[in-house]
Amino acid sequence: MKKHNFYAGPSILPQETIKSTAEAVLNFAGTGLSLLEVSHRGKEFQAVMDETTALFKELLDVPAGYEVVFLGGGASLQFCMVPFNILNKKAAYLNTGVWATKAQKEAKLFGEVVEVASSKDKNFCYIPKNYTVPADADYFHITTNNTIYGTELHKDPEVSVPLVADMSSDIFSRPIDISKYSIIYGGAQKNLAPAGVTFAIVKQDALGKVERAIPTMLDYRTHIDKGSMFNTPPCVAVFGALQTLRWLKAQGGVEEMMRRKVVKADILYSEIERNKLFKPTVTEVADRSYMNICFVMNEEYAELEKEFVEFATSKGMMGIKGHRSVGGFRASCYNALPVESVEALVAVMKEFEAKH
Ligand SMILES: *Cc1c(COP(=O)(O)O)cnc(C)c1O
Repeated sequence: MKKHNFYAGPSILPQETIKSTAEAVLNFAGTGLSLLEVSHRGKEFQAVMDETTALFKELLDVPAGYEVVFLGGGASLQFCMVPFNILNKKAAYLNTGVWATKAQKEAKLFGEVVEVASSKDKNFCYIPKNYTVPADADYFHITTNNTIYGTELHKDPEVSVPLVADMSSDIFSRPIDISKYSIIYGGAQKNLAPAGVTFAIVKQDALGKVERAIPTMLDYRTHIDKGSMFNTPPCVAVFGALQTLRWLKAQGGVEEMMRRKVVKADILYSEIERNKLFKPTVTEVADRSYMNICFVMNEEYAELEKEFVEFATSKGMMGIKGHRSVGGFRASCYNALPVESVEALVAVMKEFEAKH
């Protein structure tokens, strides 16, 4: 039976990424050695790092004055690394979920943090609007896609201070105007690579403005100066990222990913709305995520929740159980997920409806 991968992260990668990484694990770049056992200082791996950095910049149209670095520690380490490097006195945060809350908690260790708005009152099922960002904030932090709750900021907020964004789960799914940002970061395991590597797009002018001492490994300048090779990088994950970037370019880049994600999300949200058994958790249509589509049973069918997960799983729909803090179901539709998988899930939802 064909499996359809709706896991939220780590999550589906292009078949090309998986095959070429598997090949490199057996024989890396014709060296006769495995990618798992060669020096990152060798010319073969240096070429991987150089191409990954260059292609990353090319596909996101990263302007001059910005650098892209690949790090360890996950998006979670960026929650503290960002304020360590650029929070002088005050930062503003938009609280749209668990990850945004965690980011804000770390920032409080470094200065004053203003939570400009929060959607916690309704279990983060919408994106707050009509808030004011203090004009003297060093930056305004947003989480562009809320992986757990299925909300997404489809447009950059109009504010007068530089933006900082956690884009772990929607990077490379749309064009971004990077020039509005000081830092964009994310764990790569949602839409780019196997787990283990974290990306950061950093505006060089934003650095070097804080008084505090920054530990060497937590200073972005260390990694910029050494081209992400200050210490041993997560070689396999970086190699995987490169394969996904090559695939992305061949598919038509971020514009094409944007087109496809809208098609996929429309198909699935339409079925959730139509099907008598289900309803979406995010009622505000404009706030719905294209990447993580969350839905629950309608009240009168609430007792069928477990049965639907089992039914769908038995039909090859993998990873559709919702996050424990939302319940219900979550179908993650990242770049590598083909539209056929969404159609297969819709067919399973229809079949389940017919049974009840
Ligand atoms: C998964 C996720 C994180 C956590 O990433 P780690 O790499 O596990 O630290 C943070 N933010 C968002 C939006 C995520 O989806």
